[in-house]
Amino acid sequence: MDLLRSRQDLERLDALRAGGRLVLVPTMGALHAGHLDLVRRAGEIGLVVVSIFVNPAQFGPDEDFDRYPRDLDHDLEALAPLAPDAVFAPSLPEMYGAPSGVSVVPGPRADGLCGALRPGHFAGVLTVVAKLFNLIRPDVAVFGRKDGQQCLVIDEMVRDLDFHLRLVDAPTTREDDGLALSSRNRYLGGEDRRRAVCLSRGLAAVKAALEEGERDVAGLEARLVRELAVADDVEYAKILTVPDLSRIEHAEGKVIAAVAAQVGPARLIDNMVLNVDEQGVTETSLFP
Ligand code: AMP
Repeated sequence: MDLLRSRQDLERLDALRAGGRLVLVPTMGALHAGHLDLVRRAGEIGLVVVSIFVNPAQFGPDEDFDRYPRDLDHDLEALAPLAPDAVFAPSLPEMYGAPSGVSVVPGPRADGLCGALRPGHFAGVLTVVAKLFNLIRPDVAVFGRKDGQQCLVIDEMVRDLDFHLRLVDAPTTREDDGLALSSRNRYLGGEDRRRAVCLSRGLAAVKAALEEGERDVAGLEARLVRELAVADDVEYAKILTVPDLSRIEHAEGKVIAAVAAQVGPARLIDNMVLNVDEQGVTETSLFP
């Protein structure tokens, strides 16, 4: 596992690139079992580079950039058993230098959900992801389906700006009770932790309703909101088309049920991607 801290260190990737497909797993550190599943998935595809960088550009002024957990030693220890080929962990000045303000403008998939609630968030995500793609030049990049809108917004950038790489969305890793793993779960105390399961319960309720034949999106969303009643605030609870994230009245084809809710001190998101057709209702991936 080669630790790369600077742009100059990235030259060492050339030797790796000669040996096979380079697969990038971008993270902000505070690694948990969900991140490690992405790394495992990447290892099945090619030679693995994990990036660890807490990207200030994707946090709003009132968000948790300052208190976001950072512990590179812990992250390297967590990665060691999986032995990725390289870890790129640049400092803030190494990554951004003195930026002039150029950034990537997200496409229409960023208009709703988190994009509507977190102004500038996806511009920050796309800018750092574009920089990582240019610096590391991976053949494949693996992202977590848990951040479903992020996957689709990045996919739109890759298509529109002609990046030459393939995107993979890896399934969401969950706790036994269904809670999606997240670096922000560590903000949850006992009672909040118990309430946090309402997001995945709501998504399971939507799937169950679809399996019973319910197709009316307003009814399905109402069911989702009912399950989220124990949250402190529901930011959104929506069923939209994939990949365009458009509104629909009738659930048919590939859809995403997506939720964001505040539980105690943590803002949590989760989603389920479903294929709905005559054969039934099955969980599926965002990308074909
Ligand atoms: P983050 O460090 O939170 O920016 O996440 C880095 C990558 O890990 C992103 O592609 C996330 O979607 C993915 N990820 C986060 N949580 C999970 C999870 N529970 N299961 C699978 N992937 C995840």
